[in-house]
Amino acid sequence: MPVAQPGSVSDVTGETLPDTFEIGPIRPPSEAGSYLLRLTRGCPWNRCRFCRSYKRHRFSLRSVDEIRGDIDAMARARDRLRGLHPGGPRGAVRAGLVGTSEEWQVANALAAGGRTAFLQDADSLVMRPPQVREVLAHFRLRFPEVDRITTYARSHTLARLSADDLSSYRELGLTRIHVGLESGCDALLRLIQKGASAEIHVRAGRAVVEAGLELSEYVMPGLGGRELSEAHARETATVLGAIDPHFIRLRTLCLGPKLALWEEFQTGRLTRQTDVEILGEVRAFVEALEGIRSRLTSDHVLNLLGDLEGTFPADKPRLLAQCDAFLSLPAREQRLFQVGRRAGLLEGLRDLQDPGRRASCETLLGELTEVCGPDGIEEGVRSMLQRFV
Ligand code: SF4
Repeated sequence: MPVAQPGSVSDVTGETLPDTFEIGPIRPPSEAGSYLLRLTRGCPWNRCRFCRSYKRHRFSLRSVDEIRGDIDAMARARDRLRGLHPGGPRGAVRAGLVGTSEEWQVANALAAGGRTAFLQDADSLVMRPPQVREVLAHFRLRFPEVDRITTYARSHTLARLSADDLSSYRELGLTRIHVGLESGCDALLRLIQKGASAEIHVRAGRAVVEAGLELSEYVMPGLGGRELSEAHARETATVLGAIDPHFIRLRTLCLGPKLALWEEFQTGRLTRQTDVEILGEVRAFVEALEGIRSRLTSDHVLNLLGDLEGTFPADKPRLLAQCDAFLSLPAREQRLFQVGRRAGLLEGLRDLQDPGRRASCETLLGELTEVCGPDGIEEGVRSMLQRFV
C-alpha cells in the first residue's frame, strides 16, 4: 500500500488534498482525547473579567463550507493514520510519521479511541441553527463512529435557542454542552461581567436538560473573595439545585495581574482568599447543594483537592468528609499538602501517605520556606500557579 506523505493525501480522483484544518486554543480537560472541530473563532462576548482565553483574538464566525472542508480533511487524516503504523496512532507519533499539529491532534483522538469530538471555540451555538445542523450532519456523515460530541456554549446564547433547535442538535449527534456558570450570585455575576444572571443560567440550563442533552456546569471557587464567598457558595448551589445538571465541575480562580478582575483585589473591594479558605467555600457549596443528581468533579489542576469527586445525593457525606479531612489537619500538614499539590506531586490527601511523595513535599516546602520565608509561602504557592493564568 503506498504511504501518503504527512500533511497530504490523494483522494479517489487523484487530486492531492491538504490535511490541514483549524484548531482553536481551548478545550475542557475532559475533552483531551477528542477530535477538535472549530465552528467559530474566539468568544463573541469576551468581556468576563477573570478570563484572558481569547483576549487577543477577534471573534469571527466560520462559513459552513470552511467547516465542511475541515471535517473532510480530518477524515482523510484519520483514514491515513489508521493504517500507517503497526503500533497504531501512538506508534505513528513515536516513529515520527505524524508531521503537523493537525495530524497530531487526529492521532491523539484516535489513540483515545476516536469516539469523541469537541466543537470549538467559546460559544459554538452562537452560529445560526440551520448552519449548526449542516455542520453536525456533515460531521456525522464523515465520522459515524463518533458517539459523543460536545461543545462550550454561553448561557446567554442557550437561553435564546428554541427547544426545537436544541432537540434537533441532539438528534444530529450533539450529546453534551459545557457551560461556564462560574457563579449563581447575581452581585458577583455583575462584578465579573459574565453577561448572564442567575435567572438566565437557570433558564439556559433547564432548556439543555429538557432537550435531552447532557449538561456540564463550571463553577469557580474563590471568585468573589472573602466578601462574597458565602453568597457565592449558597446562591450557586441554589441555581444548580434548580438546574440539576449532569456534571458540576470545579475550576478555582487563578488570579493574576493580567486579569481585569485583579483591580478589584488591588483596590481592596475584594480580599483574596487563601487556598484553605477557598476549600472552606467549596465545603459550604457542597453542603448547600440539595435536590440534585449531578456528578461533582474536580478535574482541574487549579483545584486544591484533585480527587473531590462523587455523585449526589449518595456521595455528599463523603465529599464533605473529604473537605473536613483537609480542613481539620494541623496547619503545617495543610501547608505540606498545598505545596505538594501545587507542584503537581499530589492529587488527593491520601497521596501524602506515600513516603516518597511526602519526602519530596517536605523538600519542596523547606526550599520554599528558605526563599519566601514562613509568611511568604502562600504568595510563593500563588506564583507557582501563575503558569496556568
Ligand atoms: S464567555 Fe467564556 S470565553 Fe468568553 S470571556 Fe467569558 S469566560 Fe472567557
